[in-house]
Formats: sequence, C-alpha cells, structure tokens
Amino acid sequence: MTDFTMTTDADGVATIVWDTVGKSMNVMTLVAWDDLEALVDQVLADDAIKGAIITSGKPGSFAGGMDLNVIAQMKDMAGDNPAKGLFDGIMNAHRIMRKIERAGMDPKTNKGGKPFVAALPGTALGIGLEIPLSCHRIIAADNPKAKIGLPEIMVGIFPGAGGTTRLSRKLGAMAASPLLLEGKLNDPVKAKAAGVVDEVVPADELLSAAKAWVLSEPNIVKPWDEKGYKMPGGTPYHPAGFMTFVGASAMVNGKTQGVYPAAKALLSAVYEGAMVPFDTALKIEARWFTNVLMNPSSSAMIRSLFINKEALEKGANRPEAPDQKVKKVGVIGAGMMGAGIALVSALAGIEVVLIDSTQEAADKGKSYTTAHLDKGIARKKVTEDKKEAVLGLINATTDYDALKGCDLIVEAVFEDVGVKAEVTAKVQAATGPDCIFATNTSTLPITELAKASADPEKFIGIHFFSPVDKMLLVEIIKGKETGDVAVAKALDYVRQIKKTPIVVNDERFFYANRCIIPYINEGIRMVKEGVEPALIENAAKLVGMPLGPLQLVDETSVDLGVKIAKATKAAVGDAYPDGEVDEVLFWMFDQKRLGRKSNAGFYTYDDKGKRLGLWDGLGAQYPVADEQPDLITVQHRLLFAQVLEAVRALEEGVLEDIREGDVGAILGWGFAPWSGGPFSWLDIIGTPYAAERCDQLTEEFGARFTTPALLREMADKGQEFYKRFGAAAQAA
Ligand code: NAD
Repeated sequence: MTDFTMTTDADGVATIVWDTVGKSMNVMTLVAWDDLEALVDQVLADDAIKGAIITSGKPGSFAGGMDLNVIAQMKDMAGDNPAKGLFDGIMNAHRIMRKIERAGMDPKTNKGGKPFVAALPGTALGIGLEIPLSCHRIIAADNPKAKIGLPEIMVGIFPGAGGTTRLSRKLGAMAASPLLLEGKLNDPVKAKAAGVVDEVVPADELLSAAKAWVLSEPNIVKPWDEKGYKMPGGTPYHPAGFMTFVGASAMVNGKTQGVYPAAKALLSAVYEGAMVPFDTALKIEARWFTNVLMNPSSSAMIRSLFINKEALEKGANRPEAPDQKVKKVGVIGAGMMGAGIALVSALAGIEVVLIDSTQEAADKGKSYTTAHLDKGIARKKVTEDKKEAVLGLINATTDYDALKGCDLIVEAVFEDVGVKAEVTAKVQAATGPDCIFATNTSTLPITELAKASADPEKFIGIHFFSPVDKMLLVEIIKGKETGDVAVAKALDYVRQIKKTPIVVNDERFFYANRCIIPYINEGIRMVKEGVEPALIENAAKLVGMPLGPLQLVDETSVDLGVKIAKATKAAVGDAYPDGEVDEVLFWMFDQKRLGRKSNAGFYTYDDKGKRLGLWDGLGAQYPVADEQPDLITVQHRLLFAQVLEAVRALEEGVLEDIREGDVGAILGWGFAPWSGGPFSWLDIIGTPYAAERCDQLTEEFGARFTTPALLREMADKGQEFYKRFGAAAQAA
C-alpha cells in the first residue's frame, strides 16, 4: 500500500491520487515523497502519457499538511548533525517539486515538458498547497468549507517547501504577506481572488476541467523560469519593492517583538531570495527553514500548539466511558459568562435552556447570541436561516422545569457559595439522576460546592475564560469525588464546542488563575519598589506576553483583584505573602481607578475607552527609583513568577500531565507562546540554570522564588521535563 497511486486513461492523461493510508486527511511523510517521485518519473518517461492530474482520494480535502513528526525523524536520521539532516531532507523535497515544475522541459529553451495540474477537492494546507504551487495550474472545487493556505507561521515555522519562494514570486511580496506572515486561510473563491489558485469549478467538474486543461496544450513555463521575469511589486532594490520590505520588516518586528524566529526568517528568505535566481532562492529558503527548525522555540511551539493541543482535543486524558455527547444543556445564570456559554453551545447545535432569576435577565443573556449572529450576518458569514436555527435552540426562561431532559448543567450564577448551593439543589430537583452538574466558578473549591449536590460523583468544574466565544481553553476541574463519567461528559462537551480542554485537580485557583495571579502581583510589586512602569510593561511584551501585568489588571479590573486578595488573605491567614501588592492595589481602588471598566486604571483612556498611555499619577504615589533593574531581571521575575507556580501545580498533583500545563498556559493566559509553555521554557533554558536563577532571585527578591523541590531534584540530575514526564504524558 502506498499513499500515491496512478492510473492513465485512454486519452493519455494520468491521474495521481494522494490517499494517505490510515488517515482521514492526507499528510506528507518521508516515504510518501519517494512514492510521489516514482510516479512523476513514470509520467515523464512514458511517451503515451501527455500530462498528469494530482488530486486526492479523500472526499472534500486535498491535504492537511506535513506530518510534523517528519521533522523529528529527519533530525534523528542525521545523527550528530541534525541541521544537515534537515537541510538535505528539505532540499530533497525541493528537488522533487522542481522536477514537477520543470516537467522534463529543455533547461535552455524551455521547450517540451508535460503539464501537471493540481485538482483540489477541498482543504489544502501547508505542504498540501506547496505541492500544488509547484504544478502548472491549480484548480479548486467550489467547496465553501475548504480552507486553502499556508498556516505554518501559526505553529512557529514557515512554509519551507517552496511555498515562501513560489507564492512571493507568483503574487509579489506585498500580496503574499498576509498569506505567509499571518497564515491567512481562504475558501476557494477567495483563494482565486487572492491569486493563489487559478480556477474554481463546481465540485463534480473538477477532474474533467483538470483533464481538459492538460489536453489543451497549455504553456507550462513558470513566470520565474521565463527570461526577463520581474517579481510583481518589485524586488528589494526597486523603489516600490523597497517600500514593501521596509514596511514588512517594521511590521514583523512590531508584531512579534523579536521573539518569534519564524517570522523574521521568513522575511529574510523572501528578501534574499528575491535577489537571486529561482533555484538559489529555494536553497536560501531551505537554509532559513533549517535555521528555524533548529531553534528550540519552533520544536516547542510545534509540540504544544500542534501535536499536544490536538491530542488533548481528541481526548488524550479522557477516562474510559461511553460516548457522553451533550444533547441538551442547562445554563444557569445568564450574565456575562452564561450568555457566552449559551452562545457557544447553540452554535455547536446543542439545545440550550438558559435560566436566570428574572425573564428580563434571561432574555438579555439570549440577546448576546442574537447580537453575535447579527454581526456575522453583517460580515456575510451567517445566513438568516442559520440565525433562526441557532436562536431556536435557546430557550431563555426562569422555569426550572424546562431543565427536564438536560444531560449537562453549567452553572454560572454569582460567585457565592450560598447562591450556588441553592441553585444546585433547585436544579437537581428538576433534572434526572443522570444529569452531570458543572460549575463555572473561578475561585470556589469544587469539592466544597459539591457538598450541595445529591451526587458529588456527578459534580465537576467546567471553567470557561472570558470572553467565552473567543477564548480557546476550557479548564475541567475534578473535585475529590468527581467520577469518570462526569469527566468524560465535560471532555465530550468541550470537544463539541470546539475548544481545547485541560483536566486538573481541585486546588486554590485551579491551574490558569493560580499562575497568572503571581504574574500580575509581581508587576504590581515592582511598581511599589519604584521600577519604571513602562519598563515592567515593555519587559513583559518583549518576552512574548500579550499584555503587560499592569494592562492585564486594567482589563480584568482592580476591584476583582481586591476581591481575590481579600478572599486569599482570609483563606491563608498569616502566611499571606502579598501585603505589598495589596498596598498598591487597594490604593488604586480608593482612587476609583478600577481599570478599563472605569476608563481609568494603571493606564489612562479617552472617552471612547481607547487606551492612551500609562497613568502618570502613579509616579506621585510610587516614585520611580533612580536606579532601575536591567531588562532581563524584570523579565525573569515576571516569567519565574508564573513558571514556578506551574511547577508547584505539577508537584502537588493539580496538573497530571505537563502537556496540559503548557497548552493551557498558552491558550488560557497567553504565556509566551514562542516558548511552547512554562515546562517547555524550563527545558529550553535547562533545569540547572533555572534552579540557579531561582536561588539568585530568592536571595534578591524573596522566598516566593524558592526553587521547588521537584525542580531542584531535576536540576541536580540534569533532567528535562519532557524527557522525565513526556513518556507518562504519551502513555496517559
Ligand atoms: P454575572 O454577574 O455577569 O452573571 C451572573 C448571573 O447569574 C446574573 O445574570 C444573575 O442574575 C444570575 N443569577 C444570580 N443568582 C441567580 C439564581 N439564584 N438563579 C438564577 N440566576 C441567578 O457574573 P459572571 O461574570 O457571568 O460570572 C458567573 C460565574 O462565572 C461566577 O461563578 C464567576 O466566578 C465565574 N467566572 C467568571 C469569569 C469572568 O471573567 N467574569 C470567568 C470565569 C468564571
């Protein structure tokens, strides 16, 4: 069995069908390259064959991309010179695609050769578009669900199998930049408008259109192989091209803050490649691609954002239990969170009963879905029929009897044990004994709340992040008595609503909030010490955090911080470590600077809520010290504050799988995605260095940086997190 097979019809048109064995979507492997080349050779050698169609055996898709494990294989196969292994592997792929592109033409005269056409039934991503780009024409079926593009940049690499060089030469650097630098995906019609595909035809005419084109004796010489080729929009030394590249460089550095190696490498490959002949440009692209693949950031990003994210979504940590797909969900509390939960559930086709204490509040919650769909209609993404159908799934009511038949409840009422207990009892009186009850609490222990339940085995935490429709992570929290069926139910539900789950145990603030609070606190603490606020904020951004800690307080609100501080102090008593932080936070509260919601916080805002800059009144209360710390010290304080909490969560068994710790950190609170997450970051810097740095930070700044015992032990043994816990994660 091979992934590529070929048949030739009576007219001499060969059809090469890509059909990866054992996968629902085609992915490229090392062996498959050999199979493809053998068939290309056959097409070129056989005089009876006039040309070839390359298409897919999978209905509705062409290919999902590279099997990213191949990268690891190429590194391993090269023994002690992994860079060479990668470079040679990439150049081999270039050679095969270049063979398709040159198709047996005379190298001097460009005469002869056989046409190759890519016929895409649907989605074509990554290498699944790079191979078509090496063909002489790309015809796509008019399949509006299909996604066509080069999303590599999203996982920390860039299109390194000719996609960067070919697309920038086909479209020009300017037009190619959203496709390459942002990984923008298009449906076939938009891909045609963008110039990526050449023709869109009805699905049932795909192969006949491809065949007709092969038989039409087309010109198959690529523009860049013609004499006098000029790159659209100009090369770097052309006045227009110059403007493009200067702008792109500024944009990339502004957006990535210099922490994502792939975007810069991509730009370098395009810039340098634009000034040399095509084959040299491919070699330059291969060098930059190797450079990126050798950077630990890219392996860590691929591991967390691609391989492990997908594994968690597919239920890597799902206990054995029959299918728990949700049919009817009850959402109690139609406030900010409940309204969002109702929306994402109904969008997934789940029937929703949305309850609040008054009909007005319930209706207001439902109107969030109406507004969301209306926005979609304005953007032509949603039809009136779809709006009707989705709204028809939500029953906004005050009547608990409507909960009959629900198999899952998600409670999102006020953060108050008494209110939650009352609601739990009321709900359970209305639902059957098999219904799973989930609470969306952010701060209250699940095990405590479960005491109000008739059946704590069926009680669980499903913690959404705000805003629910945008945030990709859902934290599932097991109470002491939570049973397997409840966990499976929560996981199956999260899968239905297309989010990424992590499953953690029940300790204060669970996982995400536990790690993000110390980050915020460290930022505020530095204000108290007299560190320049702009240094704090910029240091965070320059290390890849999406928001500085002070901006984050403004977004989540100062009063929420005060509330959490008071509750934590009450719970931990004398051991409470954050008195200095509270001094600043409570002072801000007294000044009524509550953050974005009051249009005043650590930042100033205009009347429309646009953030203007850091508030200079802060300096009057907390003067900036004459001597400022260096950038790295500030960054290490901010990163270790989060990372050590993640290690403690692992030590204490809150986290059971480091993959969840890394994926959850990036999706939950935006932890420096270039690093692959807290555990990946510790592996990148090395546990011995991490422990040494913690010792220094402890001495200088206090006990909160004390090296956790687990990290100390790993440092002493020179261990890595993914070597020590990776196997367990694989087995999980
Ligand atoms: P909210 O105040 O916007 O909404 C709460 C809703 O519950 C209100 O509409 C209220 O009328 C309703 N309600 C109160 N008591 C009720 C009762 N007895 N019966 C029916 N409805 C009742 O609050 P929110 O921000 O949506 O938070 C809800 C829950 O989600 C809290 O537990 C909170 O900790 C948690 N949470 C909030 C966030 C966040 O960012 N806001 C994030 C994650 C989790």
